[in-house]
Amino acid sequence: MPAITNHLPTAELQALDAAHHMHPFTTNKDLADKGARIITRAKGVYLHDSEGNEILDGMAGLWCVNIGYGREEMAEVAARQMRELPFYNTFFMTTHVPAIALAQKIAELAPGDLNQVFFAGSGSEANDTNIRMVRTYWAMKGKPTKSIIISRKNAYHGSSVGSGSLGGMTPMHEQGGLPIPDIHHINQPNWWAEGGGMDPDAFGLARAQELEQAILEHGEDRIAAFIAEPIQGAGGVIIPPATYWPEIQRICDKYEILLIADEVICGFGRTGNWFGSQTLGIKPHIMTIAKGLSSGYQPIGGSVVCDEVAEVIGSGEFNHGYTYSGHPVASAVALENLRILQEEHVLDHVRDVAGPALHEMWHGLSDHPLVGETTIVGMMGSLALTPHKESRAKFAMEAGTAGFMCRERCFANNLVMRHVYDRMVISPPLIINPDEIKEFGRRARKALDECHAQLK
Ligand code: PLP
Repeated sequence: MPAITNHLPTAELQALDAAHHMHPFTTNKDLADKGARIITRAKGVYLHDSEGNEILDGMAGLWCVNIGYGREEMAEVAARQMRELPFYNTFFMTTHVPAIALAQKIAELAPGDLNQVFFAGSGSEANDTNIRMVRTYWAMKGKPTKSIIISRKNAYHGSSVGSGSLGGMTPMHEQGGLPIPDIHHINQPNWWAEGGGMDPDAFGLARAQELEQAILEHGEDRIAAFIAEPIQGAGGVIIPPATYWPEIQRICDKYEILLIADEVICGFGRTGNWFGSQTLGIKPHIMTIAKGLSSGYQPIGGSVVCDEVAEVIGSGEFNHGYTYSGHPVASAVALENLRILQEEHVLDHVRDVAGPALHEMWHGLSDHPLVGETTIVGMMGSLALTPHKESRAKFAMEAGTAGFMCRERCFANNLVMRHVYDRMVISPPLIINPDEIKEFGRRARKALDECHAQLK
């Protein structure tokens, strides 16, 4: 067997991949028939594949490579930390400098009194932590019946048993016995798909009020928390009507429900502020973080916890943790990522340069015959594919067919855009420049044209 390197022919690598590697969210038998695309290296906003293509990454990997690819400083920090202390745990009254420094930095950046961080290896793990933490919080306060967590249909909070249960993805619940008990899902604020004849503000209010109905239905003494992303990402970049979040906040305050903002996508500059909660005016008790925390250079996530919850949890032993909670290399790399975001004024770039250019490009696609609404906040946007804009009609074929077709045309034009059913979503690296955004727009329009021609 020759060494498996980038120098092997694509077909050979694809065959080996299909033979031994099970992929997430993939029909694995397709790998043998079609072969996976093999990404070999990346720099800035561009990926390179084994066929020599240069692909503009409109998704920042999986919504995570906020500082762009190929930053040498990140590699140097990782190597330095590996030489000095590659691993030690944070269990049993032990700690180390990278975890201390990263927790301090996150607390400094986080809004309000979110001053404590419980580290995890991913967003899924962090949301599992949150399930146990909010239930333990209420139990420690003498209210053990408060165990129900309310989430939303079509939400994505991860893929472990706990976080997959929090999520509201039907295809995930159909496999493996999800959801776990005491998770309740209300409807999402997706006006385009579900608003019917209502005006968006009235719809947003009605969808938020479903939270109050659920609380009353189950009884206040049963509800532990409400979890939501400020803007649903994997659900299709669903930007809620302006009336939605203020009403959710009012209800959480009124019934003293813990509010968990899942910032795995929205955090670390994606919406133009450090956190989506700041952009959307939300005051969470806990924030879930991952992805942009390290720009994906190392796997790391966490729960950022307010003083009151941290104090109650800290009053006893919280029987929870991961081998890699606060992993020194991941922590050091995440800290370097935050330094880059801060010292290179990446959030200013989002607000003043990349954001406005991306919005102009994105909304510019709204004249395309296949495009219904275009929506965007900061550097995350989506557009609805539709056969008829005015009536917000759905395609006659199975949901997702047009989206899949469009995604394939994007690939063919060396652009990564993802589809969620028949919505195309984007989330490019935050450091993308206006010329690259223009190129993004050209490739996106060409892909839409080709998809439109195919659909005729
Ligand atoms: N929460 C949100 C909002 C996400 O988008 C994701 C992943 O896409 C997760 C949690 C899960 O994170 P991970 O894939 O790191 O486990």
